[in-house]
Amino acid sequence: MNPRRPPNPYRLRRTAHPATDAAPTPTDAAMMRAALDLARSAADAGEVPVGAIVYETSTGKVLAQAANTRANAREPHGHAEFLAIRDACNAIGDWRLNHCTLIVTLEPCIMCAGLIINARVGRLVYSADDPKAGAVRSLYRLLEDPRLNHRITPIRGVLAHESSELLREFFRARRRTPQRG
Ligand code: ZN
Repeated sequence: MNPRRPPNPYRLRRTAHPATDAAPTPTDAAMMRAALDLARSAADAGEVPVGAIVYETSTGKVLAQAANTRANAREPHGHAEFLAIRDACNAIGDWRLNHCTLIVTLEPCIMCAGLIINARVGRLVYSADDPKAGAVRSLYRLLEDPRLNHRITPIRGVLAHESSELLREFFRARRRTPQRG
């Protein structure tokens, strides 16, 4: 019998206790304001109002920005942050975004959290929590799972009130005018 104890997968995992010192920078806040503008334009086009921006963390240079397109494009992956990550990778000719910050106005879903991990996004700053589909904090904590090889500590709640109001108003209006899908 092996006298050594099996390795504890949670030992020395800093993310077992999510850091609380991660704070948004003034650039994050400015980018979130711009992402909320993208979300508003999405709402005008009949899309769920979510906007996203990928910028280079050290320089603040915007690499990509997007809003939800799922309804009009009829594509299940038409989520703002999914499109922004894809476009940022195309812009720099690399699939790795370690040096980048993703700004998004709603907590990412399972699909988008998976893409954040696969693209090695360096930082995530999001606005409102999504209690129905959020995979960063609400339903799952995929980005802090010690079993995965890329982990980041999400920064949440930046301009959350504005984003929540935008979403609430959108769904309130949609209930008044029922439509397919
Ligand atoms: Zn998503």
